[in-house]
Amino acid sequence: MTPNPAEQNYWEANYWDALLNRDGRMDGIFYYGVLTTGVYCRPSCHSRLPNPQNVVFFQQRDRAEQAGFRACKRCHPQNVLRADPRSELVEKVCRFVEGHPDKPITLLALSKEFGLSPFHLQRSFKDLIGISPRAYADACRLQRLKTGLQKGHSVTRAQNDAGYGSSSRLYERTATQLGMTPAAYRKGGPGSLIRYSIADSPFGKLLLAATEKGICSIQLGDSEKHLREALHQEFPAAAVVEETPSASTETLIASLVHGHALRKRLPLDIKATAFQRLVWEHLQSIPAGRTESYSEVAQAIGRPTATRAVARACASNAVALAIPCHRVVRNNGEMGGYRWGVERKKAILAAEAATLKGF
Ligand SMILES: [Zn+2]
Repeated sequence: MTPNPAEQNYWEANYWDALLNRDGRMDGIFYYGVLTTGVYCRPSCHSRLPNPQNVVFFQQRDRAEQAGFRACKRCHPQNVLRADPRSELVEKVCRFVEGHPDKPITLLALSKEFGLSPFHLQRSFKDLIGISPRAYADACRLQRLKTGLQKGHSVTRAQNDAGYGSSSRLYERTATQLGMTPAAYRKGGPGSLIRYSIADSPFGKLLLAATEKGICSIQLGDSEKHLREALHQEFPAAAVVEETPSASTETLIASLVHGHALRKRLPLDIKATAFQRLVWEHLQSIPAGRTESYSEVAQAIGRPTATRAVARACASNAVALAIPCHRVVRNNGEMGGYRWGVERKKAILAAEAATLKGF
């Protein structure tokens, strides 16, 4: 049976975050097995990130082995040594908090439970997990609520199951944390359903993904498998559906790869900071066949000293071609970086230059 991300236990999203960040502080707190390889790893393992659908989490190493997983030869999860003697304590506190979603987790209650001073407990927890026990309890509860809502349970039931009880004060805060009301989240928040298709392009496989609001991801790559995996990693909470490219998708892709101007009108559904938006909007005004340097872009948006931040904004572009970050190069004419490979950047620029000459 393939575990469905939406049905995983509420704490698994926290583990998934730790896995994405390869968080060594969580080594020994949990392990993850990969169904496709039969191997289990510690969270800090540097092997390639697995598709979330293929991941199974274990809180104990023995369980992973009993389930038939072999220890990874790279990260040697069987040899996890607790670097910090407080790890064991913090792990116990985590388990306790996760196991008692309905209990109000106060520092005092925890310190009684574990026979430690509140100060020591708070300090150890923050040092190792990065947040306070109370914030951890909040996160667990919120995750539980999300899971319940994603399963389609009523708001009241999801609220009760998550351990909010009748505390309206706690519950009111969830709207802020969810970014919308629980009822809206239940109906499917933004990005909750993503449709995508993969087509061939002159620059390799092209994956185009969209929410109901607009295009949320355009990726280039050599392998369809890797493109799919990257999409799942980028939107771990979303329901992702593959479709064969429709005629309109084909037209859209053709116009993208030929640098046609219509891309400015494309509805995009991407998150951006104010600075990223500034950079990306400027990039969309650079015509096909032309390039600008990172510092020219910085000047153009009125932030002449922000060259590095411009480079970072280019590198974090999630929609290849639609936001033409490939048209930004180094001062000396060198290519600079490209999220989808420098060779590909060269090929796209060469094709745009050739098209321009053709007119
Ligand atoms: Zn490993």
